[in-house]
Amino acid sequence: MTYQKLKGTPDFLPEDTNKWQYIEQNARKLLSRYQFKEIRTPIFEQFELFARGVGETSDIVSKEMYDFYDKGERHVALRPEGTAGVVRAFVENKLYGPEYPKPMKFYYIAPMFRYERPQKGRMRQFHQLGVEVFGNPNPSTDVETMVLAMDMFKSFGIKNLKLVINSLGNTASRTAYRQALIDYLEPQMASLSKDSKERLYKNPLRVLDSKDKKDKEIVKDAPSILDYLSEESMKHFTSVKESLEALDIEYVVDSNMVRGLDYYNDTIFEVMTEDPNFGSNTTVCAGGRYDGLVKEVGGPETAGFGFGIGLERLVMLLDNMAFDYPEVDALDAFIVTIGKSTDKEATKLAYALRKNGLNVEREFLDRKPAKQFKTADKLNASYVFTLGENEIVNGTVNVKALATGEQITMDLNELYTAQTNDLLTEIEARLKK
Ligand code: ATP
Ligand code: MG
Repeated sequence: MTYQKLKGTPDFLPEDTNKWQYIEQNARKLLSRYQFKEIRTPIFEQFELFARGVGETSDIVSKEMYDFYDKGERHVALRPEGTAGVVRAFVENKLYGPEYPKPMKFYYIAPMFRYERPQKGRMRQFHQLGVEVFGNPNPSTDVETMVLAMDMFKSFGIKNLKLVINSLGNTASRTAYRQALIDYLEPQMASLSKDSKERLYKNPLRVLDSKDKKDKEIVKDAPSILDYLSEESMKHFTSVKESLEALDIEYVVDSNMVRGLDYYNDTIFEVMTEDPNFGSNTTVCAGGRYDGLVKEVGGPETAGFGFGIGLERLVMLLDNMAFDYPEVDALDAFIVTIGKSTDKEATKLAYALRKNGLNVEREFLDRKPAKQFKTADKLNASYVFTLGENEIVNGTVNVKALATGEQITMDLNELYTAQTNDLLTEIEARLKK
């Protein structure tokens, strides 16, 4: 019997986790600058939460959920997206209360699960970096959050991205538009794909989102939702566009863009790549405003805005530009041992150096010094500490900087009694003298 990972699920090996850790560290720094706070919610929740929150007619709920009954006959599902769980936590923990700042700004970096046909950039377990802002109807929130999404990609030096925006208006705008769209599509019903036929009356806006070629042709000349916006929604959208222009952020309006999740209103957006390696899955970030969702999930009327970045697709963008990932846990010191009698001393030295904040690896196999130096090189160590029999007698250790070849002798006792978190700076200073 041999075992294989399930289709569409990833093993992240150390070379991968270095990438992911670097991306997460970098992302967290930027999120701090925007003052988003991390929230961690469960990987599985009541099925009903997603059905309600994401929308029964969405592909996610109707086709892609990993749902099952647990031993207590509860209908549960692995989360297919992050927003519903965060909204549930917001409501359940009463984070709308007067003691909390407004708006409340959250982020998560977490695995999501969807039963999809796996392909490049489309996994069954994938990862999203998402943010949610609660309690702020101000269009400036839309802008600040979209700018954060763009900044996230810029912070990795990613170019050739397009910010695409649209407005879905408020409920009244959507109801008026919905009818106009049905009136337009009805006469062409016979030519629509099976999926779109089904959606025509249930959720006609989703027909605009169809990936079917013929549907796309038909939809091209459909009425524009922007002609059906209420005065208030129009004002909101204009304000968003003006602020983007004031920040010199380029964008395009695509009035046929709708989102796969049903809970959005007013501003929605996608960040798309023009990277030719991407094929048809070109959306790397998607989000928008969802002022009705908190209430839908049982909370008080609360405005919401959020987005999700597909991290596998971010990694693909970085790989395609041959991004040079810094090592997140770079090796500071490798201890070379010459002669069996140095083994115990190496243990002591490694312990002391680690206590002083260094990342340390050491020789365990008593190999020839040249081999050990090769290993140190391969592991990209900054310094090699060499312990030979002479050094032990003298109570010293030879310290060599691999980048420059410079060497000094340090006193072992001094290192054992040192109490500094800045030993590296100390070594550097001595090497310079
Ligand atoms: P698509 O139209 O590509 O299926 P979606 O509308 O289902 O996208 P969202 O639910 O908005 O996507 O998720 C936000 C982002 O998460 C997407 O833009 C994409 O980058 C990423 N994403 C979605 N599904 C997957 C998946 N199965 N594997 C990897 N990344 C994904
Ligand atoms: Mg999808």
